Amino acid sequence: MPTVTEALAMMDYGPAPESAAVAMDWLKGRAFGHFINGSFTKPGETFAVTNPATGADLAQVSQGTEADVAEAVKAARSAAKGWAKLSGGQRARHLYALARLMQKRERLFAVLETLDNGKPIRESRDIDVPLAVRHFYHHAGWAELLADEFPGMRPHGVCGQIIPWNFPLLMLAWKVAPALAAGNTVVLKPAEFTPLTALLFAELCVEAGLPKGVVNIVTGDGRTGAALVAAEVDKIAFTGSTEVGRLIRQQTAGSGKALTLELGGKSPFIVFAEADLDAAVEGVVDAIWFNQGEVCCAGSRILVQEQVAETFTARLKARMAKLRVGDPLDKSTDVGAVVHTTQLDRIRGLVDQAVQQGAILHQAPMPNGPGSFCPPMLLTDLGAANIANTEEIFGPVVTLMTFRTPGEAVELANNTRYGLAASIWSENLTTALDIAAQVKAGVVWINGTNMFDANAPFGGMRESGFGREGAREGMLAYLTGDEATGKERKAPAAVSALPGEASGDAVDRTRKLYIGGAQKRPDGGYSYAVAGAQIPLGGRKDIRNAVEAAHGAKGWSKVTGHNRAQVLYFLAENLSARAKDFAPKDEVAQAVERAFYWAAWADKYDGKVHSTTGPNVTLAMKEPFGVMGIVCPEEAPLLGFVSTVLPAIAMGNRVVAVASQSNPVPALDLYQVLDTSDVPGGVVNIVTGPRGELAETLAKHDDVAALWVFADSDLCRKAEAFSAGNLKPVWAESRMRDWTGPAGQSRDFLRRSVQVKTVWVPYGA
Ligand code: NDP
Repeated sequence: MPTVTEALAMMDYGPAPESAAVAMDWLKGRAFGHFINGSFTKPGETFAVTNPATGADLAQVSQGTEADVAEAVKAARSAAKGWAKLSGGQRARHLYALARLMQKRERLFAVLETLDNGKPIRESRDIDVPLAVRHFYHHAGWAELLADEFPGMRPHGVCGQIIPWNFPLLMLAWKVAPALAAGNTVVLKPAEFTPLTALLFAELCVEAGLPKGVVNIVTGDGRTGAALVAAEVDKIAFTGSTEVGRLIRQQTAGSGKALTLELGGKSPFIVFAEADLDAAVEGVVDAIWFNQGEVCCAGSRILVQEQVAETFTARLKARMAKLRVGDPLDKSTDVGAVVHTTQLDRIRGLVDQAVQQGAILHQAPMPNGPGSFCPPMLLTDLGAANIANTEEIFGPVVTLMTFRTPGEAVELANNTRYGLAASIWSENLTTALDIAAQVKAGVVWINGTNMFDANAPFGGMRESGFGREGAREGMLAYLTGDEATGKERKAPAAVSALPGEASGDAVDRTRKLYIGGAQKRPDGGYSYAVAGAQIPLGGRKDIRNAVEAAHGAKGWSKVTGHNRAQVLYFLAENLSARAKDFAPKDEVAQAVERAFYWAAWADKYDGKVHSTTGPNVTLAMKEPFGVMGIVCPEEAPLLGFVSTVLPAIAMGNRVVAVASQSNPVPALDLYQVLDTSDVPGGVVNIVTGPRGELAETLAKHDDVAALWVFADSDLCRKAEAFSAGNLKPVWAESRMRDWTGPAGQSRDFLRRSVQVKTVWVPYGA
């Protein structure tokens, strides 16, 4: 035992272990079945769940089969009607009861989570469990307010939910709480490595008197997840790797199942010269060494401004060397165990490759003894193409690069296929907010990192997935009510190519595609005939040219809503003035009205400031996607075109529109109105031709960030499946809409024209 003087000189920590007894008593080396229809089934074929810090077995859990999943879905289906029929207030009481019970068992949940996952007890106790509880309280509130705040909307029905191993209880809460609040029932599959807190939660469902079948939990590995994706559910909500997300996108294509995907990331951590460097160093600790770096939104790429890079790196290395890696149950541990040896091998493999590619590795000391431990690592002297900068490592490994100007910082930050999160460090709020607006990320933290709250939307852009979790925006992912209810659309008859370009119609007017603000001949030089007129036969190359033109018209996404409104009002006026030139006659007057309608929205569909815990201004900003593809409806060739393209551009998108194939003339003739209305070139591009081929090219194009398809079910399915490449959100509607009625100007057109960016701005002198 050191003397006080010696201890002060060493400044070493003594052990401060949390007892595992409370969790071990609960586990008792049990074998678990699934939780279906309010009780546990008999264990089937089981596998061991282990403690990654020691390698010891904790319990046996069952490998869910297709039959188990089907039984759980059946239970959820039978419970769905009754649960949805309860008043919001009644459902709120159940959610509130769950929140209270979780709170009463906080310690058990925290210890069990740490044993199962390897994360430090300090994190499970102070972050995971309290946040999970907060989610249930927050969503009890949404259940209460549902009818008032989401009029006309209803639950999807049965939701299949698949969660990863990095925040097992928290991800359960993110998924289950909003689904139940909205009136859905659920079948949840926890990750194979970490199912234990979900099974404890199942016990709470019984204790809380939750109606049977409202929550069902089926354990197992990826095969169980795949069975759930294939089952008769109405929605899939998935959090996990981009690779599996892509697979799920393909598998659910054309099934009519709603889908939200929360996938991987490679988030930048940008440090400007004027930042508080000590705070930023502490920020890195929270960004990448929190939860062993097993965090989808981890700040895994540090970008530091050149003039402070040396000082910053020196301080960071000094801080890294002081991190305590070891027993997760010790309250003074900073970095616990990696979830499993397979994940540890993956981390090591990627770091080895990064080093082989030239990176220099700096690492903190390793603890002695067994267990799946990985020391915090920093990789320097590497290029943007190094594997450590491109692949999600999902471990305590951060890269460091430098930049000179804010413009270069943005370029490096966005040089990734992901778009989940970003941290920006600067004492100059003007700079920080300017950069926040330019980074492609669903969540941006200014002078902070990894801040979460039930009332702050969370989710990604690009290959980080789509959909939001948390807050009002997250509730929308579990509700529906705006879908079209008309007859199923039929595919138009195939077109036959005529050699030669469109040569005119009855009034001898040569029609062309409209790309980049100019009339363009189709690349192939062919046309097709529609009612005596020759129509340009666009193809893949024309779509690519149109996307390029739309990409170039970036300025439109930056002009103010007021300016966009003026352009749209002018367009409405010009369309009205030329009304007699347009057909079908019965659509023209309403198309003019609709143009005025969407013009009115251009500066009003704005974001919100959310109330979150802590001193923060949390902004949920609505941003345009950028380039959108719209396969306009065959029916209502003018009104359908105007009703879909104008809300998208009103919100600041640039659009590549595929006009009605069987009646494209009204859309093609719009070019004159667009030209005379100050719509900048490239903001609206119009392509005609075989819709299947054109839609496929849009779906596969990496620079098309969102796609709407109003077409027959086969084309809708293909568009969803082909979109798996860059995981763009696809709105595919195979039933006809009544374009003349309220459905033709549903608020949904606005909602689906924007993506939410949550910007956290903490304050305090
Ligand atoms: P996965 O994406 O494989 O796992 C996420 C969840 O999906 C788990 O419950 C998993 O089951 C399940 N699953 C696996 N395959 C399928 C399938 N075909 N259909 C339906 N569900 C499926 O991630 P991993 O756990 O394998 O981790 C691999 C890498 O993914 C990590 O190294 C990390 O880079 C990334 N990752 C990203 C996460 C994020 O939040 N962004 C979270 C987790 C991982 P099971 O647990 O049995 O495999």
